[in-house]
Amino acid sequence: MEKGLLVVISGFSGSGKGTIVKQLVEKYGYSLSISATTRAPREGEVDGREYYFKTVDEFRSLIDYNGFIEWAQYVDNYYGTPRKFVEKEMEAGKDVILEIEVQGALAVKEQYPNAVLLFIAPPSAEELKNRLVGRGTEDSATIQKRLSRAVEESESMNNYEYIVINDDLEECVQDVHSIIVGEHSKTNNKLGFMEQIKKELALFKKGE
Ligand code: 5GP
Repeated sequence: MEKGLLVVISGFSGSGKGTIVKQLVEKYGYSLSISATTRAPREGEVDGREYYFKTVDEFRSLIDYNGFIEWAQYVDNYYGTPRKFVEKEMEAGKDVILEIEVQGALAVKEQYPNAVLLFIAPPSAEELKNRLVGRGTEDSATIQKRLSRAVEESESMNNYEYIVINDDLEECVQDVHSIIVGEHSKTNNKLGFMEQIKKELALFKKGE
């Protein structure tokens, strides 16, 4: 059996990537990696569901124990992808989605060259600001920080393999799913299959 793929999804804060990821999991059954963070839970967030909420000390000791595939600092807080879950799911042939920011995405690609890197973008900058303000989960200083961070992140978009514009949610989810399906047909993701069929064919030849 082929291993599952790592699917890295990034996008500006407010791009709608969280909703897209949720739909990919619900509609198509992808595995979702739950990150650890030192950020405080937002209203309605549950430990172990949106994130594993950690203290800075706990987070640092996970770094020391090589517990993360990658970790990064984003606007005053640490975020990291726990290693065990991701490796177990991939071994079991499941595709795993990581919803992480750009530094983390690049670190993942270095370790897992077959990882697919997708960047979700809003149709325009104006639309991004409206979405951030409209969602009402952050104060205006935090919104400003996140918009400044988006300016930096926009410089990294070129490092991604796919840019998917989130204008219509349904369409965007469908586009991401199609990209992942396509990735599975790449030669590098079919090594096990090719080896198997070559062996089978060789047996035919023997019995000619
Ligand atoms: P938020 O605080 O809005 O939940 O997330 C802030 C940013 O951190 C988002 O861009 C999100 O994708 C990113 N993020 C969440 N988990 C991880 C992680 O494990 N590693 C990295 N590098 N970024 C993450």
